[in-house]
Amino acid sequence: MRLVEECDVLVVGAGFGGLYALYLLRQEGFHVKGVERASGVGGTWFWNRYPGARCDVESLQYSYSFDDELQQEWEWSERYAAQPEILEYAEHVADRFDLSSLIAFDTNVEAATFNEDSGRWRVETSQGVYEAQFLVAATGCLSTTNLPKFDGLSNFTGDVLHTGQWPHEPVDFTGQRVGIIGTGSSAVQAIPVIAAQAAHLSVFQRTPNYSVPARNEPLDPRVQTATKQNYEALRQAAQEERSGILSVFPPNEDSAKDADPLEFKNRMDERWEEGGFGFYRAYADIGIDPTSNERVAEYVRSQIVDLVDDAATAQLLAPTNTIACKRPCLDTGYYETFNLPHVELVDISSEGIEAITSDGVRAAGRDFEFDVLILATGFDAMTGALLNMNITGKGGSTLSNAWSAGPRNYLGLSIPEFPNLFTVTGPGSPSVLTNMIMAIEQHVEWIRDCLVALRQKGIKTIEASPQAADSWVDHVNRIANQTLYPTCNSWYLGANIPGKTRVFMPLIGYPPYAERCQQVADNNYEGFALA
Ligand code: NAP
Repeated sequence: MRLVEECDVLVVGAGFGGLYALYLLRQEGFHVKGVERASGVGGTWFWNRYPGARCDVESLQYSYSFDDELQQEWEWSERYAAQPEILEYAEHVADRFDLSSLIAFDTNVEAATFNEDSGRWRVETSQGVYEAQFLVAATGCLSTTNLPKFDGLSNFTGDVLHTGQWPHEPVDFTGQRVGIIGTGSSAVQAIPVIAAQAAHLSVFQRTPNYSVPARNEPLDPRVQTATKQNYEALRQAAQEERSGILSVFPPNEDSAKDADPLEFKNRMDERWEEGGFGFYRAYADIGIDPTSNERVAEYVRSQIVDLVDDAATAQLLAPTNTIACKRPCLDTGYYETFNLPHVELVDISSEGIEAITSDGVRAAGRDFEFDVLILATGFDAMTGALLNMNITGKGGSTLSNAWSAGPRNYLGLSIPEFPNLFTVTGPGSPSVLTNMIMAIEQHVEWIRDCLVALRQKGIKTIEASPQAADSWVDHVNRIANQTLYPTCNSWYLGANIPGKTRVFMPLIGYPPYAERCQQVADNNYEGFALA
């Protein structure tokens, strides 16, 4: 395989993490290169082009903070930006800071091997070999699609589309019979938009999800101006929130189970009307106390019953599991869509999808005929993209072996036996439980500071110690076990992928995490071996 480039740092991925890593590391004088399997920048926003795709974090927060001119000049059009606008933003950032010239597109990493003699990574890609002292995996938490092994899928004669790998050209559903499998965030966003076009839409639901209205709307210019005038303080305030996300409702210490019925209803109604994730901050103990959780869950179920005309359909749509245990959804008219005469909900909770036939789907004792079948079946989250890179560290140890019992790393940034490899928003860091762009900035800045410190001290390799990783994994699990998160089959636990080890992957709580990362750096990278 031909050698394409030798560099100080190779960054894998050109989503928000990769772009910022390229920007910062070049600024520090490192010879840095990027590889990206897609033909353009944007990461998750490059791939997830399904109808209705938009970010659940408000646009004024889901954006970079590192460059004040950028955050002042970029104008967001809606409360929550839709996929095309976020992709345009990523492309603007790449152009504005001349980052695309550093990236080899259409370049997939096939293997990455650490050479103990040279202390460098050899990275085999579909376009040739890169050698680098440091490897930064900015490969995303939700970037490897989950394609369940449906019996007979290849027999289907119509189009099969996955929400996470949507075609670039617009898909016209006018007059089409459409089937969609899955009712997670992607489906909840796509279903109302597809239903508005399709002749018939069948939704195959294995587990119902709780969804709260997003209340998306054009962004009020006065809100945009006021935010920009106060951006620095607002970004700082967000970093002090457990989720890294600000809401119009400040956090409180109240308990839902103790709330007076009228006070409870008023508070929940107010949040339901406002829309967004602020709903889940109504009471401090929703995520930890089963009684409080159930009270809030029951509130959402009662909303579903109000919104859905057919009582049997409403009952099927109403989840019974812990609320906010799976990643909650925000929607625009999701439940109301099931009032349309051409939309049907198919309960597959007991038998699943029996088979895909040449004409459609066999499930729930029926044969359904479709022109298009949509798989909204999610992702092999947090570890999928890293494991797909076939990474081999010291002594021939492979990442898939090292992580056979779940991702074992330190700070979500570094893995024992895999020196000079950094994972941006890796498992073990707050990542998907926060505003991803904020989490990305924190990680990339930490990596930048680390590489600068190593260079200053003449250190060639950095590697997390096994003890530090073990106690970090314990810490992540100890915190998760104090909450209701482990009580359902979420992708946070890897439970959506058959055979994947069940372990809670993200770390709950951003502020103490960021503080810990800083302490580690200040204490001369304690928990790491430097050589
Ligand atoms: P997801 O939440 O994992 O949902 C996948 C859906 O497919 C679930 O309903 C699941 O059912 C179903 N499914 C999976 N395998 C199946 C099978 N073999 N048979 C039948 N049904 C099956 O995936 P997603 O909706 O793509 O969302 C993933 C994450 O991406 C979200 O949680 C969110 O973090 C992120 N996302 C964000 C946004 C946003 O910010 N707006 C939008 C979309 C996605 P079960 O529940 O029974 O497993």
